[in-house]
Amino acid sequence: MATGKVTVIGAGLCGSLLAIRLAQRGYQVEIFEQRPDFRTVTTYAGRSINLALSDRGWEGLKKVGLDAVIAPLCIPMHGRMIHAEQGGQHYAAYSGRPGEYINSVSRQQLNIEMIKKAAGMPGVDVHFQTRCVEVDLQQGRAVFEHLVSGERLEASGDVVIGTDGAGSVLRKSMVAQSAELGFNFSQEFLSHGYKELTIPPDASGGFRIDKHALHIWPRGGFMLIALPNLDGSFTVTLFLPFEGSKSFQALDTPEKIMAFFREEFPDVIPHMPDLLEDFANNPASMLGTVKCFPWQAFGKTLLMGDAAHAIVPFYGQGMNASFEDVVVLDQMLDQYGDNWEAVFNHFQEHRKPDADAIADLALDNFEEMKAHTANPLFNLKHKLELQMEQQIPEFSSKYSMVTFREDLRYSEAISRGRKQDAVLMQLCAGVTDPGAVDILQFFRDFKESMLK
Ligand SMILES: Cc1cc2nc3c(=O)[nH]c(=O)nc-3n(C[C@H](O)[C@H](O)[C@H](O)COP(=O)(O)OP(=O)(O)OC[C@H]3O[C@@H](n4cnc5c(N)ncnc54)[C@H](O)[C@@H]3O)c2cc1C
Repeated sequence: MATGKVTVIGAGLCGSLLAIRLAQRGYQVEIFEQRPDFRTVTTYAGRSINLALSDRGWEGLKKVGLDAVIAPLCIPMHGRMIHAEQGGQHYAAYSGRPGEYINSVSRQQLNIEMIKKAAGMPGVDVHFQTRCVEVDLQQGRAVFEHLVSGERLEASGDVVIGTDGAGSVLRKSMVAQSAELGFNFSQEFLSHGYKELTIPPDASGGFRIDKHALHIWPRGGFMLIALPNLDGSFTVTLFLPFEGSKSFQALDTPEKIMAFFREEFPDVIPHMPDLLEDFANNPASMLGTVKCFPWQAFGKTLLMGDAAHAIVPFYGQGMNASFEDVVVLDQMLDQYGDNWEAVFNHFQEHRKPDADAIADLALDNFEEMKAHTANPLFNLKHKLELQMEQQIPEFSSKYSMVTFREDLRYSEAISRGRKQDAVLMQLCAGVTDPGAVDILQFFRDFKESMLK
């Protein structure tokens, strides 16, 4: 059983899971969160209301024994329902194999279950409304301010782990000492932002559209998506450029908003009685990618989750990757015990290529979601991938490798997946009669081309 004390900054998705796992290993954990106690106070922090949870995330939940608690909070989404520009919709399964699907889960409920478990464990102290304001990297000492009393307090233990999200204060302390640490940092925002809207339940409390799909309205330069919630509603997200002819800036009157939706997403209007109200009340938020390295300083502090690698949401993997961070850190603790410097160094060396890979994949998937899901060649490739997954155990599409193959590192998924996609697109371009494709022969051609 381990001994020692860990300070965790941020009780969001990564920090809560981390606190549980560290406590299970025997560490004393003090975790500080700037929000009020979200077990009792509903806070909408402007982040997405629901999230897609997939196999890498489940591994983290299984590791701490929370999978059975979270499963009833999930709605399985077996595929994408693509709402075409010309009207009509078509369904595209995520995988050809049963049991491979993603899950819609409420961010708030997930976070509550995790912090409830953490707070109930011996050795865990949770402080809410307490904001980290700076970290002394060499000493591993974090300074906090209580947001109600204004009181300042210091936490020191063996190490400080920053799971304080994309705007991490720990990371800012590293930036401030970048010359000494050799710290590299980049932050790239998209020209698109997102706004959350709602499809409420129907009059009898039921779902107005298919609840077992992630709905997408791809429109080339922008898109709308919808994920189901347990109460019969859907959280709808509009991804749109901030500026330009079709942009958040251009949609500045109720008439223009309605005209835009009538032109682009007519089928959804009857399901969104509160469209104008939601549009006015909910912010248009930024989306970006944060890359930095090293993630640790002086063997005393470490960044994890979005604090180390915030990504755009188009692969539905940010939280999944953050949970996988906890699984990998746990493996490093198995190997290097209480030698925190070794744990942190091996963690960052192992994990950085995977974090970079999922960051790049998430950007690629933006193109795929907003444009390619409406492209006939992409749809043919997808159909043939599903058939191969059904018939050939060794085949997984790039999407399946990223989403359902927690045994495969993101960095392997990207290198195999990109090459495989290029080969498949080439082979699909040569298909004249999609109905007559011999799938076993197609797979043999695919394997041969992959070797070239
Ligand atoms: C629109 C959108 C959709 C998304 N969809 C998905 C999805 O479908 N699937 C998926 O896997 N991921 C998704 N993500 C990504 C996911 O939200 C993040 O990757 C995940 O929340 C990262 O967890 P985290 O704990 O590292 O950071 P966060 O969840 O941001 O948690 C950080 C915590 O630290 C606290 N904090 C911050 N600063 C301080 C401070 N100074 N002192 C104390 N506390 C502090 C915050 O209040 C917060 O509780 C999405 C993101 C967005 C924006």
